[in-house]
Amino acid sequence: MHKRFVIGANWKMNHTRSEARDYIVRLRHSVGDFNTDLVQAYVLPSFTVLGAVCQEMGDYPVEVGSQNIHWEESGAYTGEVSLTMVKEVGCTIAMIGHSERRLFFNETDQTVAKKVLAVYHHDLTPLICLGETGEEHKAGKTAEVLKRQIHLSLQGIPRDFLIRLLILYEPRWAIGAKEPAPLEYIQSAHALMRNIFSESYDPQAAAWIRLVYGGSVTLENMADILRLTDVDGCGVGRASWDPLTFAKMIRLTEEVAYSLRRGP
Ligand code: PEP
Repeated sequence: MHKRFVIGANWKMNHTRSEARDYIVRLRHSVGDFNTDLVQAYVLPSFTVLGAVCQEMGDYPVEVGSQNIHWEESGAYTGEVSLTMVKEVGCTIAMIGHSERRLFFNETDQTVAKKVLAVYHHDLTPLICLGETGEEHKAGKTAEVLKRQIHLSLQGIPRDFLIRLLILYEPRWAIGAKEPAPLEYIQSAHALMRNIFSESYDPQAAAWIRLVYGGSVTLENMADILRLTDVDGCGVGRASWDPLTFAKMIRLTEEVAYSLRRGP
């Protein structure tokens, strides 16, 4: 058995229903069959189009996830959406703690922890976003921040679930930027995270957990990122908004996965 490489599209606040449907039609047509033993692909549309996207996707093996969720099942939480709701329309993934949510909507390590636990209990895949800010980066606090975020966000999560969840490392200073973080920096941050998992759980669990990089990934730079030893996939924002580019990214991920075909 080997680890599946991950390639994901974060649509952020883009695509109306007709645009979303058109995106999926073009994506499916352009990618065609791909090897799902090697690649796990997902798209994260806005809440209002999740149902339409899941419907259009049908049994095509690109998973659909929400960009956020609330940890409670139901109640007086105006403007929020529950896991039961996103699961009902066909989502299998829920993203938690994206840096734009931390920056603009007061998401904290504590709310992230509640959401991760809720996603676990609903048997969906949590896509947990971590990463240091520009100031923390300049102050040399990356290791401290990652350690804190990993420990807090995984409280109560059993070891065996690590094989399923996805860690999306996105240094905030590299999101929406001109370039991704330097390759050596990405590798060292990923190695650091693997080490934190090794100490918190055990080396085998750490070897299996998938550590995905995000932050200004493009079709041009992603192969080098995917080939880094401790990188298990890429999470893409802007470059994924065009279905034909994202289709090429799925294909490229498959190509790199074939060439590396690695596993602990
Ligand atoms: C993101 O916000 O998840 C992201 C990676 O954005 P971008 O690729 O546009 O930097």
